[in-house]
Amino acid sequence: MAFNIPDDERVKDAIFIVMYNNHTVRSQRELANLVRNELNKGLEKFNISCERIRHIAINSGLVRVIIDYRDLNTAVGNVCPVCGNDIIPISNCSLSGEVIEIGKKCSVCPFLASAGKNSPGRYIFVRKRRKSKKGSVEVSQQLKRDAYSCCKDCDG
Ligand SMILES: [Zn+2]
Ligand SMILES: [Zn+2]
Repeated sequence: MAFNIPDDERVKDAIFIVMYNNHTVRSQRELANLVRNELNKGLEKFNISCERIRHIAINSGLVRVIIDYRDLNTAVGNVCPVCGNDIIPISNCSLSGEVIEIGKKCSVCPFLASAGKNSPGRYIFVRKRRKSKKGSVEVSQQLKRDAYSCCKDCDG
């Protein structure tokens, strides 16, 4: 079966419905599976990576992400590993008046990197806004666990 790549709007709509039905989604794998189920309800079939779903979910403003960090010290670049937005340095002034960088944080999501705690491991997604219903939203939705293959990023 041929898969199409869904555009951002379609993915946002699917995330909206998923978050409407689920106040909290407890892992990236679960979010990805719910969104994929939603996208593939019709005849047209879509394929999308977990990472892209996470980015769109956070950037859409529909969800708040809670990040569980792994005990891992990896270098953090200029792009947020969680949502793909800009990373900004957090600096402090030392007693001698020197500006020292004490960590890094994301300009959009709650990602915060400090020594020894800068690698996102697990995500929880919580519905952010209760927007007015658009049309009728189906309330029943069955989560098919492991219905789709996931990435190495995803916890089980
Ligand atoms: Zn971020
Ligand atoms: Zn995955």
